[in-house]
Amino acid sequence: MTAIDSAGLGPYAGDAPASQALFDRAQAIVPGGVNSPVRAFRAVGGTPRFMVGGEGCWLTDADGRRYVDLVCSWGPLILGHAHPEVIGAITAAAAHGTSFGTPTPGEVALGEEIVARTPVEQVRLVNSGTEATMSALRLARGFTGRSKVVKFAGCYHGHVDALLAAAGSGVATLALPDSPGVTGAAAGDTIVLPYNDIAAVEAAFAAEGPQIAAVITEAACGNMGVVAPRDGFNGKLAEIAHRHGAVLILDEVMTGFRVSGAGWAGLEPVDADLWTFGKVMGGGLPAAAFGGRASIMAQLAPAGPVYQAGTLSGNPLACAAGLATLRLATPEVYAQLDATAATIGKLSSDALAAAGVPHTLATAGSMFSIFFTHEPVHNYDDARTQDVAAFKAFFHTMLSRGVYLPPSAYESWFVSTAIDAEALDVISAALPHAARAAAAASAGLS
Ligand SMILES: *Cc1c(COP(=O)(O)O)cnc(C)c1O
Repeated sequence: MTAIDSAGLGPYAGDAPASQALFDRAQAIVPGGVNSPVRAFRAVGGTPRFMVGGEGCWLTDADGRRYVDLVCSWGPLILGHAHPEVIGAITAAAAHGTSFGTPTPGEVALGEEIVARTPVEQVRLVNSGTEATMSALRLARGFTGRSKVVKFAGCYHGHVDALLAAAGSGVATLALPDSPGVTGAAAGDTIVLPYNDIAAVEAAFAAEGPQIAAVITEAACGNMGVVAPRDGFNGKLAEIAHRHGAVLILDEVMTGFRVSGAGWAGLEPVDADLWTFGKVMGGGLPAAAFGGRASIMAQLAPAGPVYQAGTLSGNPLACAAGLATLRLATPEVYAQLDATAATIGKLSSDALAAAGVPHTLATAGSMFSIFFTHEPVHNYDDARTQDVAAFKAFFHTMLSRGVYLPPSAYESWFVSTAIDAEALDVISAALPHAARAAAAASAGLS
């Protein structure tokens, strides 16, 4: 083990030569060296870790270092890495062939599981959350014959052109303006409002109600850090949308099958019309879905005129992984995720308090994150008041001590049922050092 340096960094401080060598190779051939921006560590600096394996709650990087994983592939892996039954289901499916371009039994079973667990009456499988929200939006527009869509600043719905306006996640991390390449035509029908602000929604509908096809919102926001909806916010959105003949799309790509067996709908019934899912339902493989009222879904081709399709949609391996994951996701699993999230949230908050670091522990079910500010956070403007330098110091100290956090202050932390006592010990041991590093950084001392 390497000596601990004065900043409280741990044994993995300093170079990560194998990851750096891979990053150098990647940067020569991939823009920014990564296939999804937040992976590049731009918000925190340093070398992104290239992972070579995962087992339970542990990740192993190319330099052979082990980390407790609090990212879980950005949400999907509620059971941890390489769960034997999930791997078994994928392997068994693969042995029968990887793709047929025909309907298959697995997609019927996965669709039935989703319909049984959630409020949706009919569902269509796709390959990514982006596809799900893009398709739900097209369907809402086709169904209503209207063009405008209301979204909330800091909510991320994938990289759909029309929804890349004041988006969270990597867009927040990189502080990008609305993306170049998104045309005025694509974004011009998007009305961006502050999250948790019903008066703003009422005003938008008063002004443009007859043109608004849909309101889309994260069921609970996890892409500007975690920001729960205020009591009644989602229900009020449904009421306002319906009063004006518009559709409410609840984006549960992150919350779906993570915060409860039914997703956010299991914590708060909301009279939405369409829902989108992804992440957990793919069990770590690419699968996502959108669904909702049968009367709206009936507009979708080939039943109806709204076109939507996918060469690999309902892929047998992805369906097997998703189905195995959902079948293992019992009420006990959700109780354990809740307890583990509460434990890690409290440990983190206590350590930061002990070091005198201004922070707020924000939760939405078992999703949580820490905002490095004393102020309560209800929307994107609030979130952006946080002290990013403090997070950066906190992140690197945790990383150097074997805890892999999301490399951005604007992302949720994710737990799995694989987090065990050993992992909690690693987290507990790292936290006081990370909290002191955050204190030093926020005082401008480092
Ligand atoms: C991750 C996410 C998406 C996008 O899903 P991808 O599979 O990355 O395209 C959409 N909406 C929400 C709420 C998400 O968290």
